[in-house]
Amino acid sequence: MRDNLGRNIRYLRLSVTDRCNCRCLYCMPAHGVPMLRHKDVLSFEEMRAIVEAAAWLGVKKVRLTGGEPLVRRGIVDLTRMIAAVDGIDEVVMTTNATLLAPMAADLKAAGLSRLNISLDTLNSERYAKLSRIGTLADALAGIEAAREVGFTHTKFNAVLLGGLNEDEIRPLAEMAQNEPVDVRFIELMRMGECACWPDERFISADRVLEVLPELEAVGSSGVTELFCAPGWQGRVGLIRPMTHKFCSDCDRIRVTADGMLKPCLHSASEIALRGLSSEELLDVLSKGIAQKPKSHTIDLKHASKALRAMNEIGG
Ligand code: SAM
Ligand code: SF4
Repeated sequence: MRDNLGRNIRYLRLSVTDRCNCRCLYCMPAHGVPMLRHKDVLSFEEMRAIVEAAAWLGVKKVRLTGGEPLVRRGIVDLTRMIAAVDGIDEVVMTTNATLLAPMAADLKAAGLSRLNISLDTLNSERYAKLSRIGTLADALAGIEAAREVGFTHTKFNAVLLGGLNEDEIRPLAEMAQNEPVDVRFIELMRMGECACWPDERFISADRVLEVLPELEAVGSSGVTELFCAPGWQGRVGLIRPMTHKFCSDCDRIRVTADGMLKPCLHSASEIALRGLSSEELLDVLSKGIAQKPKSHTIDLKHASKALRAMNEIGG
């Protein structure tokens, strides 16, 4: 369905848990955050009902995210349930991949179409420091397993962290040289854990174009600007919420693990979806979509107005 500004809303990002097996510096505090109680987290049936209503309203694509979606018990069954919903063409997942290796085959068989894998560094010491708990070896094992079981068109997401990983722009981008994958650089957004970080941590994605002058613009996909270099099989993407407003192209809504609809990532507005009948769900979802804000107000100096941290929303 279209919102009041004519944007066609076709994409739902569903946070299946607020828990995570990592504690990335910019996303979660070292000792974690108070976690939702089990009874406050949407059940699989509640998630299916929300996806069914969203599909009825025109949503075609669902992203399973978190927290870390792979820590949700039964994630393979949930994937199968969501993939079976009438009208849903694509179920995809955003993951840190550290738990992926033993689950990759089952997720593929359950109907997961594609993976976005978060990878901010290719240096194992740095990975340990940035994620606080995770290991690069586990993430690479997950990436390899995904390849082996036949996941293709994987997208790698690296958050640009001034002074922490900007020296890895070229090596990260070069993953797209010999493989048909997208490596996307995301501007760090001032929210949650990093809302008060110093200015030098927030760098514009223009830095990627300075480091890789051979990149040529080849179009866009959703909110990602795409680039390619001569002879490369894959592409480099830039997602720049801090320096460019792409809200007019936004086609997504979000649902948190405790069942709140967020029409905009950076707005404080949340609408409760729990406990509603299927007719009420349709009504509340369509009103929420209609009222999606025109744009957010976040930029290099101003923090997000979202009331939650990223691990609670799912990116
Ligand atoms: N745990 C999964 C993962 O890391 O891929 C999924 C959830 S995580 C919150 C989703 C994405 O949000 C990750 O790519 C992460 O790097 C990104 N992210 C978290 N905090 C961010 C921030 N402040 N600015 C930009 N991206 C952020
Ligand atoms: Fe966990 Fe993903 Fe946040 Fe890292 S970015 S702490 S992996 S939810």
